[in-house]
Amino acid sequence: MPRGNMPRQPSRSGRQEGVRRKKLPLPKASPIRTAAKKTGQVGKNARPTLADSERLQQILTGLDRLYPDVTCALTHRSAWELVVATILSAQCTDVRVNMVTPGLFEKYPTVQDFAALEPEQLEPDIRSTGFFRNKSKSVVGAARRVVSDFGAIVPQTMDELLTLPGVARKTANVVLGTWFKKNDGVVVDTHVTRISRRLELTKQDDPQKIERDLMAIVPRERWTDFSHQIIWHGRRVCVARGPKCADCGLEKLCHAADKTWSTVEIHKSAKP
Ligand code: SF4
Repeated sequence: MPRGNMPRQPSRSGRQEGVRRKKLPLPKASPIRTAAKKTGQVGKNARPTLADSERLQQILTGLDRLYPDVTCALTHRSAWELVVATILSAQCTDVRVNMVTPGLFEKYPTVQDFAALEPEQLEPDIRSTGFFRNKSKSVVGAARRVVSDFGAIVPQTMDELLTLPGVARKTANVVLGTWFKKNDGVVVDTHVTRISRRLELTKQDDPQKIERDLMAIVPRERWTDFSHQIIWHGRRVCVARGPKCADCGLEKLCHAADKTWSTVEIHKSAKP
């Protein structure tokens, strides 16, 4: 299986790694080279094709055209429901999560209801989402923390969200961006990992490093929409195996090595 196709668990620490600073001459006009500089990925890895702000703009424009009014694919009616749905979505499809959560929230309507459970009691309800033992502990643990430390109201800052069991940067970014409309970071899930690498927006495979690269080149006001657009693109077109390149609206901008159809040069290093 090509590297990057396996769903990845985000770091629980949520902390950015230290930035290596390497002073090499880089063109000022290149946002992607700037990102490469911040991550220490300079020299032969900083390919001219990455140093193209116009290309990045074309990708962003293309995503807007393909996925206008995009939103989170996880069904939810509150910040707490979105926390639960996002925890359940780890290594599980959004479709499956959306099948489970309506009944779950009918059975346990409030965060206090979840906090009163033992994790074992929740397991049968979420079993079909996979990894249900760990997810039960995370959901119940998060509920208890929200009730005990935040007055039963989901907190609105990255630092506070990261104190909830089972919540790492991916979940926190989903909640902050989708519910609270705060662009605090880029959601890096399996789709964003795969497609960002195919589109040569990053060469990293660690979610925190990918997020750092994307935050350096994508305008902040677009972080949440960009994340959702890429996730939708990954679900519909740029799937992990056998991407539907002939139907892809970004095809002319993509040089991925595993394209199934191409009108442009292929870059061997543009791998998922
Ligand atoms: S051209 Fe193919 S590999 Fe590239 S983004 Fe589109 S579907 Fe994905």
